Parts: sequence; structure tokens; C-alpha cells
Amino acid sequence: MIERIDYDKCDQCGYCLEVCPSDVFRREPGSGRFYIAYLDDCQTCFNCELECPEGAIRVGPFRKERPQAWDCGRGSGFPLPAGRGSG
Ligand code: SF4
Ligand code: SF4
Repeated sequence: MIERIDYDKCDQCGYCLEVCPSDVFRREPGSGRFYIAYLDDCQTCFNCELECPEGAIRVGPFRKERPQAWDCGRGSGFPLPAGRGSG
């Protein structure tokens, strides 16, 4: 999953926006800089990290874990529906 953009290196070329298959990036209207707008949509494809000409993007090897339906009520923070046991 994408972790950060280093704004000391970024030259605002916009390649990250073009190569991202999940449309994660947006451009701030005022400053014009690119930012991570939809982190949860990142599919950890590494395109942006590989294509950024300034080496300004860091992508970690792991996707953020999402709670699975069968984990509900077992310490996931998501309660079971009323009337269901904790299993
Ligand atoms: S590809 Fe790299 S240098 Fe270009 S806008 Fe994105 S983060 Fe900045
Ligand atoms: S790793 Fe892939 S999906 Fe994630 S932000 Fe970069 S280009 Fe988009």
C-alpha cells in the first residue's frame, strides 16, 4: 500500500496520477501538488513508486488488512448482529 509522497523530492510532474490504475491521487487546486486522496483504493501494484522520476513515492509491500465477515465479534471491533453468539 502506498505510504507517502516526499514533497522535498516531488516536482509535480503528475506521472503518479497517470499510472495509478486505482485513481488514488488527486491534485490540490491551490498548491497544485499531488496527494494521496483514496488510500483504501490502493492495490499495491507499485506503478507509482516505479514510475515516479524523482523517487518521491514509497509503497509498502503489504495491503492494509480489512476485517473479514467471519471475524466479526472476535476482537475485530465489529460487533455481531443482535442475537448472534460470540462464537
Ligand atoms: S510522479 Fe513523483 S514527482 Fe511526479 S507528481 Fe507524482 S510524486 Fe511527484
Ligand atoms: S501502488 Fe498502484 S494502486 Fe497504489 S497508489 Fe501506487 S499506482 Fe496506485
